[in-house]
Amino acid sequence: MPIYKLEPLRKVWEQEYTLWGRIGTLLGLKRRVTDAELAEWKELIYNSCTLCGRCSMVCPVGNDIVAMVRKIREGMAAAGHAPAEQILASKRAVTQGSPMGVKLPTLQAQIKRLEKETGSTIPMDAVGVEYMVILSSMEIMSFPEYLSAIAKIMLQAGKTWTISSEAFETTNSGIQIGSSDIARELVSRVVNAAEKLAVKTVISPECGHAYTAIRWE
Ligand code: SF4
Repeated sequence: MPIYKLEPLRKVWEQEYTLWGRIGTLLGLKRRVTDAELAEWKELIYNSCTLCGRCSMVCPVGNDIVAMVRKIREGMAAAGHAPAEQILASKRAVTQGSPMGVKLPTLQAQIKRLEKETGSTIPMDAVGVEYMVILSSMEIMSFPEYLSAIAKIMLQAGKTWTISSEAFETTNSGIQIGSSDIARELVSRVVNAAEKLAVKTVISPECGHAYTAIRWE
């Protein structure tokens, strides 16, 4: 169950922040969490949680489990136990603007192809429009029809919208890996782009961690 992923965090809390836990650790009755144990927990803490937040939403006693999963990831990343793939994805997100390494020319090529195929218009860097749409790299690469669907909906609804060439990526690798600094940097890019283009609203795809980052943090 989701809460089980937090077992190393619970152990550390008990040993560091409770009186009996501290006494037990001092007397050698409780074993400290080791690096080897953390390495074993990597699979459950990272690979088996998308940070969707559904467990927090339905928890019968109101535990915000996803917030604690993020907290334990902060510890795992700081202890050097983040998965290698995720470290690379975070680096790409910071240096290239996308965890999958999807750069602006790729997005522009997809837009050009879609506009040609569907006859729809997909605006880039339009100033003063109502909505700025952000995307995940996965959508750009694997589900580009998502973009032409948005174009059709906006046209039908009579709404103005745009994509920003400076912040088109939704995925927040900082939150995924457990690094507040990277998370802040990636959210700031979206906020800065939205302010620069003077849009009223940012639309994020359905994505538990990315929506949380943009909406609440
Ligand atoms: S956040 Fe989503 S994926 Fe992660 S433990 Fe909760 S329900 Fe499962």
